[in-house]
Amino acid sequence: MRLIPVTRRSPLTLNDRAAERPPGMPDDDVLKEKTRDLLDQLADLQARLFADGRHALLIVLQGRDASGKDGVVRKVFGACNPAGCQVTSFRTPTPVELSHDFLWRVHHAVPARGMIGIFNRSHYEDVLVVRVHDLVPKKVWSRRYDQINGFERMLAANDVKILKFFLHISHEEQREQLLERLTDPRKNWKFRAGDLDDRALWDEYTKAYRDALRKCSTPWAPWFVIPADDKDVRDYLIARTVVEALESINPEFPKADRKILKLRKKLE
Ligand code: ATP
Repeated sequence: MRLIPVTRRSPLTLNDRAAERPPGMPDDDVLKEKTRDLLDQLADLQARLFADGRHALLIVLQGRDASGKDGVVRKVFGACNPAGCQVTSFRTPTPVELSHDFLWRVHHAVPARGMIGIFNRSHYEDVLVVRVHDLVPKKVWSRRYDQINGFERMLAANDVKILKFFLHISHEEQREQLLERLTDPRKNWKFRAGDLDDRALWDEYTKAYRDALRKCSTPWAPWFVIPADDKDVRDYLIARTVVEALESINPEFPKADRKILKLRKKLE
């Protein structure tokens, strides 16, 4: 199964079925093995990206509560050298952040050339939670799609490769994950009472996600829908898409110039 970027005309069903393991996926053992290979490739490509220093890679992870954003950071990007990787989690904006435009805090977190930046939630919250909870008037959030497209276009023109993943889970899978957070003492801290309020707004979020994905999937910053009920499938599909994107950048170890290489004699 190959991931196809969302387009303006994508049907984007986003129902429970679309969150399940897609038909035609290999068996678990094979899938895990393939993911391991991809993660080795990711580590190698990241080392090149860092040494090359000409491009950045920005990964946007969005999804409902308990959809596995933290799991992707740990299990996919855990393969990277932490020195070349930065994770930014976007939470409710502070008063200072709110006193600026909504992209101010985001721009600050964009990875530098050579780095992989991972956004755990992102500027898309400003057309998702903000829209669903009426935090600003429609007149304000509805202009943001174009503003986001312009912002991402500018980043792409400045050597930031952007990939955006929507981790799509089913209503039942979210119930199980939230229940687990209340059952397992090691996970209690992850549960917010607000998670249940957002769960009650499931359909409103689906609508907001559909609009965000359709309006803001562009050639320079595509959105991909990840069927995320099965974690192995999720990790495999993301790892593969990231590896392919890095291969398309084709980062190279810089060649040392001759004078430098001659210094070798002094150490032999
Ligand atoms: P999980 O998905 O695993 O439950 P989380 O991403 O919800 O974790 P939290 O720290 O519990 O992590 O929640 C972050 C909260 O911040 C989310 O409810 C999100 O909607 C909210 N948030 C992020 N950006 C904004 C924003 N621009 N405006 C309002 N709320 C925001």
